[in-house]
This record gives sequence, C-alpha cells and structure tokens, in this order.
Amino acid sequence: MVLGTLTLTLIGSLAAQVNPLILKYTVDHVDALLQQSNPMQEGTRLLLLISVVLFAKEIVNIFIQFGQKYYGEKIRINVSNSLSEVAIHRILSYGMGFYAAPENQSGRLQTRIDRGVESLTKLVQNFFIDILPLFSNAILALIIMYMANIYVGLVATIILPAYFYVSSRQAKKLQGVRRQLRKGRENKNNGLLNLIDSITVIKSFVRESYEEKKQLEIQEQLTQDQLYTRKTNFRYDGVKSFIEQIGVVLIIILTTYLVLNHQISIGAIMLHIMLFNNVSAPIRQLHRIYDDVNDSLIYAEAFFQILDAAEEAEQSGTYREAVTKGNFEMQHVSFTYPNGTQALHDVSLKITGGKTTALVGLSGAGKSTILSLLNKFYSPDNGSILLDGVDLNEYDNQLLRDEIGLVLQKNHIFKGSVEDNIRYGKINATENEIITAAKKAYLHDQIMELPLQYKSDAQLLSGGQQQRIAIARLFLKDPPIIFLDEPTASLDAIATEQIKNSLDAIKKNRTVVIISHSISQIVDADRIYVLKQGKVVEQGTHEELVEKAGPYKEIFDAAARSLNLARIAQSIS
Ligand code: ADP
Repeated sequence: MVLGTLTLTLIGSLAAQVNPLILKYTVDHVDALLQQSNPMQEGTRLLLLISVVLFAKEIVNIFIQFGQKYYGEKIRINVSNSLSEVAIHRILSYGMGFYAAPENQSGRLQTRIDRGVESLTKLVQNFFIDILPLFSNAILALIIMYMANIYVGLVATIILPAYFYVSSRQAKKLQGVRRQLRKGRENKNNGLLNLIDSITVIKSFVRESYEEKKQLEIQEQLTQDQLYTRKTNFRYDGVKSFIEQIGVVLIIILTTYLVLNHQISIGAIMLHIMLFNNVSAPIRQLHRIYDDVNDSLIYAEAFFQILDAAEEAEQSGTYREAVTKGNFEMQHVSFTYPNGTQALHDVSLKITGGKTTALVGLSGAGKSTILSLLNKFYSPDNGSILLDGVDLNEYDNQLLRDEIGLVLQKNHIFKGSVEDNIRYGKINATENEIITAAKKAYLHDQIMELPLQYKSDAQLLSGGQQQRIAIARLFLKDPPIIFLDEPTASLDAIATEQIKNSLDAIKKNRTVVIISHSISQIVDADRIYVLKQGKVVEQGTHEELVEKAGPYKEIFDAAARSLNLARIAQSIS
C-alpha cells in the first residue's frame, strides 16, 4: 500500500507540473503566431492540442487523487487499529505498580492513549495526503524552475530557509505551552470522571461550589494557554505570508527583467510564477503541518511512554505444575509500594494447605498487601515467598492465578447480565453450571424473582447480591486456593449469614486465607496471624491467642464490646 501510494504521489506531482508547462508553451506559441499573417488557423490547432492535453491530465488526475486518498486513508485506518491493539495488549500486560502510579489514573491513561492514537494516525494521514504530495510537487517544481533558469530557481530557493526558520521559531515558542495544554486537557477529563465518581460525597458535604471552583481553575488555565497559542500562531502566520509575497514579487521582477533582456521567453514569466505557486503551496501549509506534526509528536511521546514502560511488564516464571498441597511460606518478606510506602517489614508466615488461615490487624496493618504479594500482583523487595516449596517468582503468572480465587470486600461487576458476570469465573461454563454456582452462593432464588432473571442487569443489583455474584464466580472457577479480603464487610446481617454459609461450604479441603473484622469468621480459623504496622506480632489459634492476652485479645475484646455481647446474650433465645 505504501509503495502504491508513493507511485501515485509521484505521478500526481508530475501531473501538477503540466499546467505551468502548457501555459508557457501556449503563451510562447501565441506570441509567435501573432507575428504571422493568419494566426487564427494555426491557433485553432494549438487550442485543440492544449485542450486535449489538459483534459487528459485532469482525467488521469481524478484517478490519481482517488487512489492516493483511498490508500492514504486505508493506511491510516490500519495504523490506528494496530496502535489501539498494541496499547490494549501492553496495558493488560503491566503489573499492578503501573496502575498505582498517579500519572496512570484511568482518565489520564485514557486521554493519553486516545490522543496518542488519534495524533499518530493523523500524522500518517498528513504524511500521505498532505506532506508527501505537496513536497514532491514543490521539489519537482523547483527542479523545473532551475532547469528553465538557474537565477529564478535560486530566488525561489532563498525564500525557503527564511520560511522554515520562522516556522521553527513558532514551533519552539509553542512547545512548552503545548505540553501544558496536554496536561490541562488530561486534568479536565480526569476531573470530570472524578466528579462523577464522587458525586455522592460531593453532594452530601455540599461541596458543589468548591468542586466547581477547582474545575474552573483548570478551565481558565486551559483557556489562557489556548488563547496564547492562537495569538502566537496569528503573529507568525502574518510574517510567513509576508515572506511568501516577497518571493512572488521578486520572481515577477526578475523574470520581467530577463524577458526584457531577451534571456527568457515571455511564456517563462507565467511558467515561473505558476511553478513558484507549486513551491509555496506546501510552504503555505507548512505551519499547519508543523503544528500537526508537533502536536502528534508530543502526544506520541506520552503514548509511547505508555507502550515502552517495559519495566512495568509483569515478570512471569515458567514453572507450570498445578498446585498440589497449597502450602505458602513467606520468609522475611519486606515490601514497599511504588509510591514509597513501606507496607511490610520482615514478615514470615506459613499458610498450610487445606486449612484456613486468618490475617487480623487494624486497618493499614498490611493484610491486603500480603494477599497482593501471594497473588504475585507485586514482588517483595526482600525475602522470598514459596508455594509448595517453589519460589513464587518461578511460577507462571497465569497458572498461579488460575489456582487462586480472590473475593474482595467490593468486587467489580461488569456491565452486562447476571449470567455474563457469573460466567467470568469460567468463560465456557454451561447454563447449568452457572445455575449450580448461583445456587451454592445462595443467589439463585433471588435471581429467579427478578423480571429478567439471569438476563438482568448485574450492575443494578444490591451490594449483597453483587457480592454473591463474586462468590458464584468463585464456585465456578473452583480453585484450590481462596483468598477472602473482608468478603462480608459491606453486607447486612442476613446476607452476611448466608454468605458465611456459602463460604463455609467452599472452604472445605481448600487453602483459605481470610481477612475479616468479623469475629465469627476468624475464631474458626486453623491459624491466626496478627499484624501491626506491617509486622507479624502474634500467631496461634484463637484460644492460644486469647490466652496470651496480647494484641489479638485487645482487638477481640474491642470487637466483642462493639457488639455489646452482654446485652445481646440476654435477649438471644
Ligand atoms: P490492611 O489490608 O491491613 O488494611 P493494606 O495492606 O491495605 O492494609 O495497607 C498497608 C499499607 O500500605 C497502608 O499504609 C496503605 O496506605 C499502603 N498501601 C496500600 N495500597 C497501596 C497502594 N496501592 N499504593 C501505595 N500504598 C498502598
């Protein structure tokens, strides 16, 4: 396609020089005919010849233009698709650290990718539809000018550096502002997304005007930058038009002088002025092209930063043996998040296969971080994590995660039906399997009461129902290892009891790690680890830990008091 476009471009450029050459030929011949006695008769033949040539050229031109635009566009669309594909592929391959970085918040990432793809695509389009034809026209025209008369060629050439100089000054002046414009646009997009995400909090604290002011400040900066860009452009464009007109004037003066001096024919005046028009056409567009190319390069830079974040790519090992026992061991593990927060200090613990291990501690103690490390979402700074005696780093990520089921406090429910959301646990699950999973998660009866049943919009379900979708996914996935991170924290009492029942069912014969603030789910654990500020401070069974009267007992007592057990005990039937 590229070769085809280049060939068409060359033919198109040749065709673009036909008009000036024909005009010169005509003027010179008409001039000569005027000296003859019967110019009309000869002239008719001349006119016929010219008309045929010009029409033929225009007809050829139609096809060339079509081919050029069509292939240019085809290349553009293909490039756009490929870039989007690569972006999605790369982003999905990055580790959690990439998503945790502030510059990669979803809104910003989206803007950077959209703009990057858009402007790179535009660059390709500009190159094939504007830059290439215009510049090959200009070069051909310049060559013909030199061939016709070297001095006129020189005058046309001298104008070019001046023009390029002004354009590059203009571009330099705008570069910083363009970057700022880009940031401003990203902030604006991100700002709107954040507003919508946090609308409940904004409204409940009556912070509408505060938020509006923050948005307005971003808008104002954006407006100022945009106006500055426009103003600078207008000023430089004026200078550039002036230089171009100087070129035209110089060529008129020079060619007229040469004609009067009998060095060139009168037709050559027309030839040179028209050819100079071909030379200056791209120049006239230069600032726009320069603008677009600069824009593209800036957005492309941000886009390629995303694609080239090789250090963010998830490291995967090659060990692909299925998990047999499910024994995890963390040995002297320390871990720091990419933003510098050290979440774990020298943590050593053992998670026994087939048993339930509970992680207890105040919030921020590092419990979820441990689950993230066991899931290989991050790698420890120091120390090692073993699963069945093999370092987690050696495991193939996909195999490892296939063996682990993760249920969070709030699980993502995708846009779509209940059925599709449950099916996420096993993409090729049959309808029966889905129903069985939903039954095990105590969800089936509730779904059957909905008007559309399994086809209902999952995002409209209650928090408890959504949580049960997550558990149904887990049943469907059926992994030997299960991590539960406060699975019932956001549920009401009835839902909590039902979910506890379904979790108790799924826990059997599996390796389970549970984080919970609910005493009932912890006391049953085979082993409990108590964390405080990123360190393991106690371990044992519930009874042992209560006996020790240490941090666990403190947390347990506080939880018991908050339940007002004494009062409740009086009224329990
Ligand atoms: P817990 O689960 O016990 O409540 P976490 O493991 O979530 O605690 O957090 C431990 C520490 O790590 C906290 O100080 C928290 O602020 C920090 N932290 C958690 N997630 C991130 C993250 N993505 N980036 C930076 N710091 C984090």
